[in-house]
Amino acid sequence: MTRPFNFSAGPAAMPEAVLQQAASEMLDWHGSGMGVMEMSHRGKEFISIYEQAEADFRELLAVPAHFKILFMQGGGLAENAIVPLNLSGGGAVDFVISGSWSEKSFKEAGKFCTARVAATSQASQFTQLPAASSWQLGADSRYVHVCSNETIHGVEMHTLPDLKALGCDAPLVVDFSSHVASRPVDWSRVGLAFGGAQKNLGPAGLTVVVVREDLMGQALPHCPSAFDYQLVARNDSMYNTPPTYGIYMAGLVFQWLKAQREGALSGVAAMEQRNAAKAQLLYDFLDNSQLYENRVAKDCRSRMNVPFYLRDASRNEAFLAGAKTRGLLQLKGHKSVGGMRASIYNAMPMAGVQALVQYLRDFEHTQA
Ligand SMILES: *Cc1c(COP(=O)(O)O)cnc(C)c1O
Repeated sequence: MTRPFNFSAGPAAMPEAVLQQAASEMLDWHGSGMGVMEMSHRGKEFISIYEQAEADFRELLAVPAHFKILFMQGGGLAENAIVPLNLSGGGAVDFVISGSWSEKSFKEAGKFCTARVAATSQASQFTQLPAASSWQLGADSRYVHVCSNETIHGVEMHTLPDLKALGCDAPLVVDFSSHVASRPVDWSRVGLAFGGAQKNLGPAGLTVVVVREDLMGQALPHCPSAFDYQLVARNDSMYNTPPTYGIYMAGLVFQWLKAQREGALSGVAAMEQRNAAKAQLLYDFLDNSQLYENRVAKDCRSRMNVPFYLRDASRNEAFLAGAKTRGLLQLKGHKSVGGMRASIYNAMPMAGVQALVQYLRDFEHTQA
C-alpha cells in the first residue's frame, strides 16, 4: 500500500519508516515488556532513549558543548512567553517582524518585557525580509528575536543575521520551529533557538530548546519553575515529566536523518541538498505557470513552506478536490492568507513534490 503524500504545515508527515518502526515497537520496546509511553521517565530504558535522542540531535546539528539541549513542552507559543521570562530581565527586547509567527512572539513578549519592533516587512505583506542593515537595535537590548522560517508566509532566512557585525552585542533568539534540521545552523550567531517538534522533528507536544549556557540562570522571579531553563537543564529535562513518547519519536526521526544520504553527504547536509532540490522544482514550476503564483521575493523563499495562489480563486475548491483524488493531502493555505500551501519538510520525498508538480500541470491544462 502506498500512502498519500501529506503536505500539512503541522502536525506534519513523518518518515514512513519511522512510523513503521514505532508501530512494531508499540507493545514491547526492545524486549522490555513495555511500550515506551508506559515507561517511567526515570527508568533505565527511557533514560537510554532520552540520552540517545539528545546525543543524536547534538551530532546532527553540530550543537557546541556550551549549549544545552532541553526537551520541554508548550510548543512555540509557550516559548514566546518562556524566552522573555528567562532572558529579558524585564528589560527591552528587539523583534524583527517578518510574518505571523514573529508578530505573535512580539505581542506575547510585551506581557513580560518592553517589546520593541526593530524592523517589519508588513508593508510588503511579508513577501520580503526586512534588510538587516535597516534593523533598529537598541544598545540596551536584552536579546533580538527572529523567526528564521515563517511557516504561514513562506519566508525563510537563508543565513542567520550576524548581530555583532550590526554592532549589537545582544544574543540572537531564533524561532526555528518549521525548518529545524532542514539545514545546518551557524551556532556562532545564536544565543537560543527553539522549535516545536510537530513540523520537522516528530509529534506535537515536544519543544526543543537549544540555549547557550551563560544565558541561563537569569529567570524572572515569577517564571514558573517548570519553565526555568536552568532548572530544566540541571534536571536533564526531567524536572517534571517530559513528553516521553514525543522524545522517543523524535529520536527515531534523528536516527532516520543520520541514515539519509545524497551523494557524499549525509544527515542534515544531505537533507539540505534534497530540500533545495525539492523546493527548486516546485518554485520553478510555479514561476513558469499562467495559473499559479508565489508572491515571495526570490532571495527569501522558504524551502519548507511554499504558499501559492490560483490566479482564478474560484477554482480553489476544484483544485483541492482533484488533489485529494490523486493522494495529495492538506494543500489548503492558512486561513489568514488563503490560497494554497505545500509544506515539504524533511519527510516529504522528492517523489511527493514530483507528484504535486504533475498534478499542478495537469490541473492547469484542464483549465485552458
Ligand atoms: C507552528 C509554529 C509555532 C507554534 O507552535 P505551537 O506548537 O502551536 O505553539 C511557532 N512558530 C513557528 C515558526 C511555527 O511554525
